[in-house]
Amino acid sequence: KILITPKSFKNFKEKAHKLLQDQGYEIIENHLGRTLTEEEIIELANDNVVGIIIGIDPLPANVLEQCKSLRAISKYGVGMDNIDLKRADELGILIKNAVGTNSISVAEHAIALMFAAARHLPSIAAGVKAYGWERSIGFELTNKNLGLVGGGQIGKEVAKRAVGLGMKVAIYDPYFNDFEFLEKYNIQTIDELPELLKESDIISLHLPATEETKGLINVETLKLMKPTAILINTSRGELVDEAALYHALANQEIGVAAQDVYSSEPPEQGDLLVALPNFILTPHIGAFTHEAVEQMAMVSTENLINMLAQ
Ligand code: NAD
Repeated sequence: KILITPKSFKNFKEKAHKLLQDQGYEIIENHLGRTLTEEEIIELANDNVVGIIIGIDPLPANVLEQCKSLRAISKYGVGMDNIDLKRADELGILIKNAVGTNSISVAEHAIALMFAAARHLPSIAAGVKAYGWERSIGFELTNKNLGLVGGGQIGKEVAKRAVGLGMKVAIYDPYFNDFEFLEKYNIQTIDELPELLKESDIISLHLPATEETKGLINVETLKLMKPTAILINTSRGELVDEAALYHALANQEIGVAAQDVYSSEPPEQGDLLVALPNFILTPHIGAFTHEAVEQMAMVSTENLINMLAQ
């Protein structure tokens, strides 16, 4: 049996299900239409499930241990911070993510958030919906310094598009080694994060949430940013200390933050950061395009079949 958890998978399920059924697998779907809890995953996967196609649902050690037949996990997407990778390895469970399948979609969303922040689009458009006609002055992205933290699949797609917009792009990524890319697009790297934060008009995060990177944006690093700085986060909520961000935005120590991710998705009712006028949040839709969803469905299915054939 194979368990498939992501809700958006259903758009391409006929093609993907056929691939799995042709291999003789029985499919268990997530009928709840939302992210599953640990208990729900255990209930669905503890009996004869050999493979899981997983979204952002939690797979910590205790869940992996109770899914006795599990041999392979295929991530429907890229970020694997919801899976205990170490415990999976100890249990001999294979894991693969769908590298690059949603990079263009997430990059386009990051650029959309930059425009939304620079021109105050959410509040301006909401004002018109209420039959107001409030106009406020924003600024152009052209000629602005864009600092990318992380220059992997998504960071590079953002960089290319930003160069096309006439932005000056710099990347901070201690593991970056695609020097041909830098030359081709006339992009520089910066070796120290504080320098990138000080120089940038817009800072966009494109790195995984790991023990090393959680809380990367905090009281100290926010202090380094320009008072007009725009912070974009389409990666993971945990990268940002939200209490520190609230303080910085409420006191106009930075300009605007626009995120597609949050520490708790959805945020708690009455969350103070969400209520701030200079904070924009979209509900983790970076990869939600027809193009990316199809690629994620097909690549994660093929990855699972290949892992189970090993
Ligand atoms: P990737 O693995 O291709 O790139 C990540 C980059 O981060 C790598 O180049 C790596 O060297 C760099 N990095 C690692 N640690 C770093 C550090 N301490 N400082 C600076 N850079 C560091 O991944 P990707 O496909 O570009 O995805 C990036 C992140 O975007 C994912 O981890 C995921 O969390 C997030 N994501 C979000 C959505 C969404 O729907 N919003 C969709 C896909 C991915």
